[in-house]
Amino acid sequence: MPEPRSLRIAVVGSGPAGFYATAHLLASGSHVEVDLIDRLPTPWGLVRLGVAPDHPKIKAVSRAFEKIAGRDGFRFLGNIDVGKDVSVAELEELYDAVVYSVGAQTDRGLGIPGEELPGSWAATEFVAWYNGHPDYQHLSFDLSGERAVVIGNGNVAVDVARMLALTRDELSPTDTTDAAIDAIVGSGIREILVLGRRGPVQGAFTPTEVQELGEMADADIIVAPEDLELDAISEAELADAPGTTKRNVDLLREFAVREPSGASRSIRLRFFASPVAILGTEHVEGIEIAHTELVAEDDGRARAVPTGERETIDCGIVFRSVGYRGVPVVGVPFDEARATFRNELGRVLDDSGEPKPGVYCAGWIKRGPTGVIGTNKKDATETADLLIEDALAGRLGDETNPKDPQALPELLAGRGIDVVAYSGWEAIDTLERERGEAEGRPRVKLSTWDELLTTARAGHETQ
Ligand code: NAP
Repeated sequence: MPEPRSLRIAVVGSGPAGFYATAHLLASGSHVEVDLIDRLPTPWGLVRLGVAPDHPKIKAVSRAFEKIAGRDGFRFLGNIDVGKDVSVAELEELYDAVVYSVGAQTDRGLGIPGEELPGSWAATEFVAWYNGHPDYQHLSFDLSGERAVVIGNGNVAVDVARMLALTRDELSPTDTTDAAIDAIVGSGIREILVLGRRGPVQGAFTPTEVQELGEMADADIIVAPEDLELDAISEAELADAPGTTKRNVDLLREFAVREPSGASRSIRLRFFASPVAILGTEHVEGIEIAHTELVAEDDGRARAVPTGERETIDCGIVFRSVGYRGVPVVGVPFDEARATFRNELGRVLDDSGEPKPGVYCAGWIKRGPTGVIGTNKKDATETADLLIEDALAGRLGDETNPKDPQALPELLAGRGIDVVAYSGWEAIDTLERERGEAEGRPRVKLSTWDELLTTARAGHETQ
């Protein structure tokens, strides 16, 4: 196979998809250089700031990212807001190709009254807060009420429910922020009610996560046996379902026959309960739900329809956990319906549906917010392969115009942007781990912009 010419590629977004795309591109030949760019001074995306802190094994994928960062041709450029500090047009001019792996940066709305009331939170805000994301540390979650409601039946909903019920002993060995540990442990919450609009067979959560709900140190798991009496639609779906769904249902059946142990908190999973309104005047005081039943759609999907029966449940806080949503970056074609960049297998498409030369995407901004971390490997590899194919076919612009590695750093320096290099991140990483070691924790995160940038700067100076 002929080698492509020397390539300088920018990968925007240093979460799993960005790292996997980078790895595959760097592995394609010694002539490839990748600048992995992030808005934050820290890499790893949701592995650092989304994965629940009590899931260190999942977070350990960062070791693979560290190895990728050690390869020839790799450079990390943090603290760059693409679309603001540098325009998409400028970036695409400075590199032979750009891969956007910016994830899905906001939450899907419910579109129900009361959604904007104080005390109604996107689960993603809570997740970012307890994980030490520097943009979310000013938030203050009022956890004084006895009941918290989590809307949705995905793994994020399960994470939030579990985090709210962990004890100090369970939280202390993690890298949850100290503020979050104190708030969770000291909260008045006695019940965490997780609402699924469909049934247990249709849950989007995965068995490992469901199982953990039954293994909490001081929280009971409660499921009503009648929710496990499956109708014909669910029976048929379960018969054809993957093993993971069967395992979910087995676990839930086991929970349904458990006697509560009298633990300090309980996590109650309720199914066939669709949110109609979040109630309250000044702040959240309750939630109105519609009871639902399933109807089979033509596409085979079971849909929840209201039975006509409604119910009001008191609660002090609501976490809306109904999925993430991609947001546009000015200058990159966006598919509003899918909330992804308009693309075909990772090649970004222009208004006429033709591939935009040299512009690609990978991960959630390519396919939507689905799958686990590993799903992004296949996804990013597909994109990287197409990029290499385009390079080999001479579709990546002017071969006689080699790109200057200093062009972007110099442009940004001229604009007063303090770019964080990998050595800056390493200084942050080292300090966090040192602080953590003293307390028997993996790390104690720096969670303000000021701390992060000051530490990174000191790291650059000692280089
Ligand atoms: P998700 O898996 O897409 O789940 C969204 C949930 O919200 C579904 O149960 C969905 O129910 C429900 N929902 C959507 N619209 C609703 C509405 N209007 N009213 C009530 N419920 C509604 O999203 P996610 O939990 O944010 O997770 C995102 C991705 O990250 C997933 O692929 C997930 O597996 C992954 N993740 C993995 C882990 C892990 O591996 N430990 C942890 C966190 C996240 P319907 O099915 O009825 O639409």
